[in-house]
Amino acid sequence: MKQKKMSHNFYDFCVELIESRGVKIREIAEVTYGLQKPYLDEITVDDAETAVRAVIHKREAQFAIMTGLELDRLSEEGMLQGPIADIIKEDFSLYGVDEILALSVVNVYGSIGLTNFGYLDKAKEGVIKEIDEKSRNPDQVNTFFDDLICAIAAAAASKMAHQFT
Ligand code: MG
Repeated sequence: MKQKKMSHNFYDFCVELIESRGVKIREIAEVTYGLQKPYLDEITVDDAETAVRAVIHKREAQFAIMTGLELDRLSEEGMLQGPIADIIKEDFSLYGVDEILALSVVNVYGSIGLTNFGYLDKAKEGVIKEIDEKSRNPDQVNTFFDDLICAIAAAAASKMAHQFT
């Protein structure tokens, strides 16, 4: 079967999507930097930003970002129907599909990605804490967003671990 060619620049779209929801790529890079600094003392925040952008260039990451953030947006606009509407809007703690979707971002980078993701999900460092507490935009639904940002930061940290050691 011939696949239809997708002409969109998903990378630019995803970067704009993330920044339009109040998080700068640089801030994700700062989280990544914080994760890797204890192990790689030569690295800079610029290196971390390069790794973050490389992660967002991956199709796996782009599809997860576009899917998750569209669900958050639909939830904000009250467009979701049925029981899932409240589950996503209230970020029901046993839902877990948000974490599972985000795992498709870290999967690309092996087990260090998974460990970093689990750590960030608990420690909620830097901008991740702000997303979780919705301190920047209280009306925003961040159910998928918080996990995706954790996953991007974690995947980028793993990429650096592979690259610089
Ligand atoms: Mg979540």
